[in-house]
Amino acid sequence: MKKSALEILQLGHPHLRRTSHVIPDPSDVEFQDFTARLVEFVRQQGGMGIAAPQVNVASRMFIMSSHPNSRYPTAPIMDATVVINPEITWTSPEIEKDWEGCLSLPGIRGLVSRHKKIKVSYLSASGEQIETEYTDFLARIFQHELDHLNGTVFLDRVDSTHEIMMEQEWQRRVIDNNEVD
Ligand SMILES: [Zn+2]
Repeated sequence: MKKSALEILQLGHPHLRRTSHVIPDPSDVEFQDFTARLVEFVRQQGGMGIAAPQVNVASRMFIMSSHPNSRYPTAPIMDATVVINPEITWTSPEIEKDWEGCLSLPGIRGLVSRHKKIKVSYLSASGEQIETEYTDFLARIFQHELDHLNGTVFLDRVDSTHEIMMEQEWQRRVIDNNEVD
């Protein structure tokens, strides 16, 4: 595991395109240390989540850390949740399309279709088997982060290049002019 300062890989780095490995032992001290550092890192970055491959660690782990912002005023506030070896076990037929961004693609937003509701299983930071379900925004974060473990980024999932915006235009057109949607 990396001991140096964590750095976010940007789109174009081939390691963002790797399939990450299952974590054999979440109780491994080095892995626990990495997890704690990643939790702190995503808090500093103000991200809604981050996946290990984004900091050049090819392990099947990500952090979800939802908090409200101007686009998602009703986004749940959650303690940073460590998700290890995640699987989606069920997806709703209902699909929702909404804007996503990513720390590895700064300045770009895209409209991405995601399942509105998912059932998932994963290991917690303490190695406990978790079975739960997520809807709406949390389901979107989970699907976005899981994609990173398989070398996929949100741009791969936009239906049309016409549904990509630069951050500044997105702020102006989607957030400033459309606050009540
Ligand atoms: Zn991302």
